[in-house]
Amino acid sequence: MSISGKVALVTGAGQGIGLAIAKRLAYDGADIALIDLQEDKLKLAAKEIEAIGRKAVIYVADVSKSESMRGAVDYAEEQLCGFDIIVNNAGIAQVDPIVNITSEAVDKIFDVNVKGVIWGIQAAAIKFKERKQSGKIINACSVAGHEGFGMLGAYCASKFAVRGLTQAAAKEYAADGITVNAYCPGVVGTDMWVEIDQRFAELTGAKIGETFEAFANSIALGRTQTPEDVASLVSYLAGPDSDYITGQSMINDGGMIYR
Ligand code: NAD
Repeated sequence: MSISGKVALVTGAGQGIGLAIAKRLAYDGADIALIDLQEDKLKLAAKEIEAIGRKAVIYVADVSKSESMRGAVDYAEEQLCGFDIIVNNAGIAQVDPIVNITSEAVDKIFDVNVKGVIWGIQAAAIKFKERKQSGKIINACSVAGHEGFGMLGAYCASKFAVRGLTQAAAKEYAADGITVNAYCPGVVGTDMWVEIDQRFAELTGAKIGETFEAFANSIALGRTQTPEDVASLVSYLAGPDSDYITGQSMINDGGMIYR
């Protein structure tokens, strides 16, 4: 119960990694504001949090809109009587060779993966300062934020941007007692990877499942990652044991890339 009584907001909390993070932070003792585009999934997620014994509120919002993130943070504070942790988890993937990337596609992925993180950092920092308190900002990065992968150019660019933002925000807010870190998963078996695998199959002629398996074979620990493996790192970054860590984009990938 390292964050007992704290309030945490998690974006992209309807499914996958975001849902696992929300549940883990609830087990750690926090009340949770769940943000996503998918209201039906948010309702189910809220029931899971309440079953753990913590309060949950849902807020349907698009993270790529600054006013939505400000609204989400205000709502979380109002409803849950506090605001301590934000996890800017929502993200999308794209698979395309660089010659096929369009301006619209870049706008779309940067709107969610980069602007979504900027607006989340901004809304949380404004709130922490307003409340005259310290806070934790945690962003979704990736191994693709440390190393480029072919056919994932726009995605990698967006995740490298998250690593840069995490460092800049850490320096900017350190004096306010706000730490800013990121988690960098490897290959997690969520809907995102189903999409990536399908798209690789369309583009390269690989069989369904083959790309996922090829990436999985590069993992030293011999298995792909569960959303719960990601949530363990986020739990650490959200809790007091990481108080002396800021500006880091920490890799937890089972041994896939080495930095
Ligand atoms: P997912 O596709 O399973 O879930 C993403 C969630 O985010 C969905 O519920 C979706 O509705 C929500 N979302 C998407 N766009 C949104 C928007 N504009 N506003 C609000 N919500 C939005 O993906 P996941 O695998 O759980 O990934 C979560 C994060 O982890 C992403 O940032 C992703 O880039 C990162 N990540 C994933 C992997 C992986 O292997 N799955 C690896 C490294 C990093």
